[in-house]
Amino acid sequence: MRRSKKRWQRCEDLKAKVRKITLLLEKQYGHPRRKGSGNPLDILIETILSQNTNDQNRDKAYQRLKARFPRWEDTLKGKTKSIVSAIRPGGLAEQKARRIREILQWIKKRQGRLSLSFLKKMDSEEIRKTMGALKGIGPKTLHCLLLFGLGREAFPVDTHILRIGKRFGFIPEQMGAEKAHLWMRDLMPKQKSLSLHLNLIRLGRTICKARNPECNKCLLSIECLWFSTHQDCNRAEVSFP
Ligand code: SF4
Repeated sequence: MRRSKKRWQRCEDLKAKVRKITLLLEKQYGHPRRKGSGNPLDILIETILSQNTNDQNRDKAYQRLKARFPRWEDTLKGKTKSIVSAIRPGGLAEQKARRIREILQWIKKRQGRLSLSFLKKMDSEEIRKTMGALKGIGPKTLHCLLLFGLGREAFPVDTHILRIGKRFGFIPEQMGAEKAHLWMRDLMPKQKSLSLHLNLIRLGRTICKARNPECNKCLLSIECLWFSTHQDCNRAEVSFP
């Protein structure tokens, strides 16, 4: 009984911490909006192309794929080697081409056309079960589809977010990205997944980098576990405008 109360309290503390970090980031970076076409199939393919590569290479691969095959129907009819050559800049081209084709075939067989609009009628749990069962759609891809393609409450955990979450202390040190998706579901403030996701990535790219985070420029150091335990890192003497 005492143990479960302690666990509950810890969860409440972490929730409060995540909420505070979300608000501090919004003060610093604003309220980001959803970018892109908002078409769930476009988002899904784009996210598959983003696996194990950076945004620049993903964009290049996606643009080349769309230039060669303007409609997803064209991709489905296209030769695998042409798809592989188009998406080469994104890395793992053979594997990604195979997965994209398999997913397109699955959609066509199920729906008779290449559209994921049928997902809009499902609740998020049903989408998780249906799409998460397909090869090439892991937790991050699934959460990107939910958040960016379908406007649902979902929190994709990429390498920036995993690293920063551990530094702040709201993701346990030993936890991998896959488990962190489930972990974060209990901690997210309502209607804030998009904002926290995009603002944390921005923090990770500009200040809280993997190597040598620039803590002296960070306005969130007061919330940071890593900062409080690293002696060589000076507390930022900054205040919000
Ligand atoms: S204080 Fe340093 S380690 Fe902590 S979030 Fe800011 S930049 Fe990252």
